[in-house]
Amino acid sequence: GHFAVMAGPCSVETPEQVLATAKACKEAGATILRGGAFKPRTSPYSFQGMGPEGLELLELAKKETGLPIVSEVMDISQLQYFDNVDMLRMCGYRALSATYEEWLMAAEYIMSEGNEQIVLCERGIRTFETKTRNTLDVTAIPMMHELSHLPIIMDPSHAAGMSRMVRPLSLASVGGGADGLMIEVHNDPAKALCDGPQALRPDQFTSLMKEINALRQALVECTK
Ligand code: MN
Repeated sequence: GHFAVMAGPCSVETPEQVLATAKACKEAGATILRGGAFKPRTSPYSFQGMGPEGLELLELAKKETGLPIVSEVMDISQLQYFDNVDMLRMCGYRALSATYEEWLMAAEYIMSEGNEQIVLCERGIRTFETKTRNTLDVTAIPMMHELSHLPIIMDPSHAAGMSRMVRPLSLASVGGGADGLMIEVHNDPAKALCDGPQALRPDQFTSLMKEINALRQALVECTK
């Protein structure tokens, strides 16, 4: 019955950007603030993230809003920077080409080391389609619920790579039974240093949250 919405900028850029976006996300009803300090970029010439300083800004945003934080660790050497930071750790997304079996076995490696606090995150698989960045695999939701006890969240922002797809894919995910969503929101997407084209403006995120809540409510009502 719990549904987590993790929202925030792709990458942490400035104190003003993080705080403005975090406050807007919280007001709209997000439950967790997302934000990257270490970025996995396709090109070595793209903005690589602020690094440890970015984590400090996330801490600041947490103090201001009370929202817990989720951020990416790209490499074991970066873990030292996360030790002093109180945040949720996400250790792996589904790889573009991983089968359900391979994906679950990757989670199994984490579990076998004693960490059972795992959330699966579907963020698009590579298909023959070229119009979107990747294809959001909604089939993964019921399949993962059938094969495992792990919660699965969906990341429509990275799957599609374009902001106008985020609303329909978010609603499809809710309807499909996802346990949560990861959505990129930026206070000024046109100026974002990373993933601007897929980021929602705060007002778009606010109206999407209303629809998400209405859809969840409707699904509860009709199964009563
Ligand atoms: Mn991103």
